[in-house]
Amino acid sequence: MSNNTSSHNPTVAAYKRAVEILGMKPNIANALEMPDRELTVEVPFKMDNGEINSVVGYRVQHNNTRGPFKGGIRYHQHVDIEEVRSLATLMTWKTSLVNIPYGGGKGGIAINPLNYSKNELERISRRFFRSIDPIIGPNIDIPAPDVNTNAQIMSWFMDEYSQRHGYTPAIVTGKPIELGGSLGREEATGRGTAIITKEAAKKWNIYLDKAEVVIQGFGNVGSYAAKFLNDYGCKIIAVSDVSGGLYDPNGLDINSLFAYNKKHKTIDGYNQGKKITNDELLSLKCDFLIPAALGSAINSKNVHSVNCKVIIEAANGPVTGGAADKLWERKIAIIPDILTNAGGVTVSYFEWVQNLQQFKWTEEDVNNKLQDKMINAFEDVYSVKIDKKVPMRIASFMVAIDRVHQSYMLREG
Ligand code: NAD
Repeated sequence: MSNNTSSHNPTVAAYKRAVEILGMKPNIANALEMPDRELTVEVPFKMDNGEINSVVGYRVQHNNTRGPFKGGIRYHQHVDIEEVRSLATLMTWKTSLVNIPYGGGKGGIAINPLNYSKNELERISRRFFRSIDPIIGPNIDIPAPDVNTNAQIMSWFMDEYSQRHGYTPAIVTGKPIELGGSLGREEATGRGTAIITKEAAKKWNIYLDKAEVVIQGFGNVGSYAAKFLNDYGCKIIAVSDVSGGLYDPNGLDINSLFAYNKKHKTIDGYNQGKKITNDELLSLKCDFLIPAALGSAINSKNVHSVNCKVIIEAANGPVTGGAADKLWERKIAIIPDILTNAGGVTVSYFEWVQNLQQFKWTEEDVNNKLQDKMINAFEDVYSVKIDKKVPMRIASFMVAIDRVHQSYMLREG
């Protein structure tokens, strides 16, 4: 559950600071913070034993000034309206930052999916999508996968919507390739993370082929980031997952570890490197530390031991607001999540464009366009950072909020 109002929430704090520096009028700053619409629905469904059960679902549409609402739907027992609202807001800034024609939205169902059979999950998913049908559409609001939702669930969503409205692949992204998913989507967030790291290396005068990299989390984002950074010539000296970490000062064999992890779904048992804990991993001396696992990984308890030049936030919110302040004092740069992990939503946008065009792009097309978007966003942020002498997070919010503000004034003013 999120603490949406806390000044320790880096998103809330960054918003306040950014609107202050932008000199935005308080009434407009309040208007842009407020969600357009919040929907809470009861989702009744039949259990496998024939009993009727019911769970609660949400869709929050934060802002659609620059385009349709866009954001994932997560299934988690801790989902509540505050968390969904906070994540929907973040999507507005993220889509604006990479300059794609979307606003921000988010949804969720408060369930632990492990407690339900596949058939029950299908009935829950279809019923939820029917319940939010009045407020979604390919030009209105386009959901996507998030925590514990996947391409199969997107297929049920798309099928449910298409039965009512005719064949509409553009109603959701993150679909299987066979149903209109985009090539390159699986790797997109890790690829975007690697591209951003490469750009940061240029600005912070770090030679990529000499750079030492440490990555926490070896799931979708962390493992692909490791693979692409390894391709760029970086030395990945440590990685970890929930089972613990592996450290080799000479560099891990990432291609072989990647293959091992694909097969075993863990790095545990891989036969290279010294075993270390996640705490030890976060304190290793390196050029780039990439937290790609979970929120608040770097916090007031462990921030003093961080020993890198730049933190690349691949996960959402891996550095707490208090820890970020301490790192700023120590001149350790943070490239924020809103920029670093925007590769996923960017390729989701490409999927939607391909669906609307009914035309499939090559993987090379997708990757080149992703690279352009990520580099442009990085440059936009970096020039504000230099101009205003602010951290990259504040600069990111300034770029993103300014774009939404300008569109908002043109439409409402
Ligand atoms: P994932 O479930 O594929 O992988 C998560 C990884 O973190 C796994 O290796 C897991 O073992 C590891 N992990 C979990 N708990 C840990 C712990 N306590 N210590 C160390 N490692 C731990 O998830 P993902 O899709 O790679 O997402 C990672 C992060 O990136 C999340 O914060 C997610 O919200 C964010 N993100 C993902 C995407 C995307 O496209 N996948 C897009 C934007 C943001």
